[in-house]
Amino acid sequence: MTAHYQVHGDVAVITLSNPPVNGLGLATRQGIVAGLTQAEADPAVTAIVLTGAGKAFSGGADIREFDSPRAVQEPNLLSVIRMLEHGSKPVVAAVHSVAMGGGLELALGCHYRVAAPGCQVALPEVKLGLLPGAGGTQRLPRVLGIEPALNMIVSGEPVKSELLARLPGQRLFDRLAASADSLMEESLSFARSVAALRPLPLVRDLPVSHPQGDAFFQFARNMVKGMAGPYPAPAQCVDAVQNATRLPFEQGMVAERTAFLNLMLTPECRALRHLFLAERAASKIPDVPADTPLRSVQTVAIVGAGTMGGGIAMNFLNAGLPVTLLEMKQEALDRGVATIRKNYEAQVAKGKLKADRMEQRMALLRTTLAYADLAQADLVIEAVFEDLGVKESVFRELDRVMKAGAILASNTSTLDLNRIAAFTNRPQDVVGLHFFSPANVMKLLEVVRGERTGRDVMATVMSVAKTIRKTAVVSGVCDGFIGNRMIEQYGRQAGFLLDEGCTPQQVDRAIEKFGFAMGPFRMGDLAGNDIGWAIRKRRAVERPDMKYSRTADLLCEKGRFGQKTGAGWYDYAPGKRDARPSAEVVAMIEAHRAALGIQPRKVSDEEIVQRLLFALVNEGAHILEEGIASKAGDIDIVYLYGYGFPAHRGGPMNHANQIGLFNVVQAMRRFARNPLDDAAFWTPAPLLARLAAEGATFN
Ligand code: NAD
Repeated sequence: MTAHYQVHGDVAVITLSNPPVNGLGLATRQGIVAGLTQAEADPAVTAIVLTGAGKAFSGGADIREFDSPRAVQEPNLLSVIRMLEHGSKPVVAAVHSVAMGGGLELALGCHYRVAAPGCQVALPEVKLGLLPGAGGTQRLPRVLGIEPALNMIVSGEPVKSELLARLPGQRLFDRLAASADSLMEESLSFARSVAALRPLPLVRDLPVSHPQGDAFFQFARNMVKGMAGPYPAPAQCVDAVQNATRLPFEQGMVAERTAFLNLMLTPECRALRHLFLAERAASKIPDVPADTPLRSVQTVAIVGAGTMGGGIAMNFLNAGLPVTLLEMKQEALDRGVATIRKNYEAQVAKGKLKADRMEQRMALLRTTLAYADLAQADLVIEAVFEDLGVKESVFRELDRVMKAGAILASNTSTLDLNRIAAFTNRPQDVVGLHFFSPANVMKLLEVVRGERTGRDVMATVMSVAKTIRKTAVVSGVCDGFIGNRMIEQYGRQAGFLLDEGCTPQQVDRAIEKFGFAMGPFRMGDLAGNDIGWAIRKRRAVERPDMKYSRTADLLCEKGRFGQKTGAGWYDYAPGKRDARPSAEVVAMIEAHRAALGIQPRKVSDEEIVQRLLFALVNEGAHILEEGIASKAGDIDIVYLYGYGFPAHRGGPMNHANQIGLFNVVQAMRRFARNPLDDAAFWTPAPLLARLAAEGATFN
């Protein structure tokens, strides 16, 4: 049972007790029902207080039961709320810390609510592509008024209890407790004060209307449409709240339920729920138990104060951890520190950071030219030039000076972490921490697990990632890890598309319409086309059989590296970032096509999108099969946070699952018949072929 029952004199107290946030799983709901039944049966009990133990009143649905039959098994939440409303004794919700989703809906089913200040109150279902499904859209407007309720339902954002308690005419909270500590005492005395009052007040009986009537909802619908993007849920939230004003309560409830169930089936909602669960699952490593002892990380050192080193340092400074930055030359250090300060100053100028906070952060930063000054750091991250010889000298030096038990991390994007680890006598302490640029902004962190990386090191860096607010995904060692290894294949397809008849802007537009933040060519211009050029030069030696379009090399031979040179696949006005189509590039592509004897053809947007996506999916399947990623959701998270993949599509692997792997393989077979494409490219990875044949999905 995950709810407890106790009697305090004449008041029964039912306490939800399902850590961490008293999710309303089946056992908890059963516990509430058992408590209510007991209280009803006890003649000495005149009122009931419902509260939550620990860190929450209730955070809503239990994510461990997400998508399982237990989530709706009776007594489901609607039935529990109905039971509350039909009880013969008053129930007072004592709300504190967190009252979200189903937790808030449960409180709204109680006869009275007493809140502690500082409680986060929200109906966040919209963030999962849904609307509240246990009466939230019908009851919240009745206690808060239409506009504040609609704002909360459409945004999903939490609002503090004391702010809500101040809204004129609000009926959400009958009393605001003086403090969280006195909540229980005040709720008990409140319960006693209302014990004899009849009839019992029900939120469902409160009137609800808006002075502007339907005109307001039309206005709200227009506003929401502009903000909702591809998601159907926000507009349906407006409809549901409007129903509260024009339908009898029970009919409004039926309409809410119908909308909820329909939204559950939409691809957008499935994508968001997949990503929500995948993000949680990403932090768990199959063979690293949750109780693995962690190493303490209180101080950090960074070697290299360039683009990445500076950004990485900021993450730790932001989290309040002291950082020592090492460079070879004083000028490089000065430059690195000046860039960090400039970045903070820009945040201050935008009002995103207080000036004194900036100074506090800068004060945590030390610089040095001497390795001895790093020796006591708990974690050192190397971010020097991408050259194995340079990495070797750095790691030998770190091995020599760092205290025993320090974690030695490399930010390498392409080099073999096992070789880097072998430069030391402590490969168990070596791990890859692959940040994405700009490292102080991008949420993704690929944690690269070497053959000999210790389990405690893995557990520790996953926890460090949380401290610096990164979403960490574990990758095995391979060239490019998860993200860049896949993006190389996507880039190859983008190149073939140019050869066949597309312009860079057509390709970018098609995939951006699909939802990517940026198409491959705009992304190349942002990151620097010279990076891919260097990789292709290496590939030409390692894998001379690998076919790719030469257009990107021709572009680089012209010095068109992208935004940093003012010219890439697009032209850029000095200091500007908006990409303008380039006549020079179009002429270059056409000349190259002519030299190859290719007759350009019109390629449909659908074909562009499928070729780019299925290139990602097929490489993703190889990555899964080789165990580089342990689950498909990890790949989706990498693409969501590292590459601007649209959330409503749920990541490349989820998207492929939704299309059906059979259909993906069929399309790949079609592409393989195109003589200008690379038939070998479109050979389905064995895992993909097998799952497609079995009618199964990536997991
Ligand atoms: P960068 O050239 O901007 O910075 C490298 C810095 O390292 C320079 O300031 C240099 O002076 C310093 N340095 C070189 N050798 C050193 C040594 N022996 N000791 C101390 N300092 C030394 O390069 P970057 O873009 O910051 O890349 C650094 C690392 O991060 C590389 O391994 C790169 O592959 C990786 N990485 C880069 C990106 C990116 O987008 N730039 C993304 C992820 C990972």
